[in-house]
Amino acid sequence: MPRVCTLCSHPKRNEIDKALLNDEPNQRIATAYKVTESAVRRHKAARHVALRMVKAQEREDVRHAIDVVMQLKAINGATLAVLKEARDDKNGDLALKAVDRIQRQLELQSKLLGELNDGTTINITVSTEWLELRALIVQAISPYPEAREAVVKALN
Ligand SMILES: [Zn+2]
Repeated sequence: MPRVCTLCSHPKRNEIDKALLNDEPNQRIATAYKVTESAVRRHKAARHVALRMVKAQEREDVRHAIDVVMQLKAINGATLAVLKEARDDKNGDLALKAVDRIQRQLELQSKLLGELNDGTTINITVSTEWLELRALIVQAISPYPEAREAVVKALN
């Protein structure tokens, strides 16, 4: 039968966790909050503090991720503009560089979207834009068969 953690259910848990995060000695915490030293050790070893921190930070992380998505979108826009220019100038080297850059961004974006799996509306919005972007890229690089092939490969 699982043992109930006396620290997790402690009315002063916030203070205790703070003390633990400050690396205060287990024994001092145990004495201060009238719990056993072994309970402190268990609470620590079972990563109860860490788990709770992760939960508390989830919302913040999603917010941060959305910021990153916005930035990526801005970079994507700029890179696509470069790509279009390169295509108009028939500058294959520059086009390939832009494609390379976009490819790395796509990798980063897909990673990010994977992390946002539990998100709500932002996911749908980003996904739509993602598909549009994907179509744009494939279209933009169509004059460069090698680049096109590389990107299509990376996208699939
Ligand atoms: Zn605990």
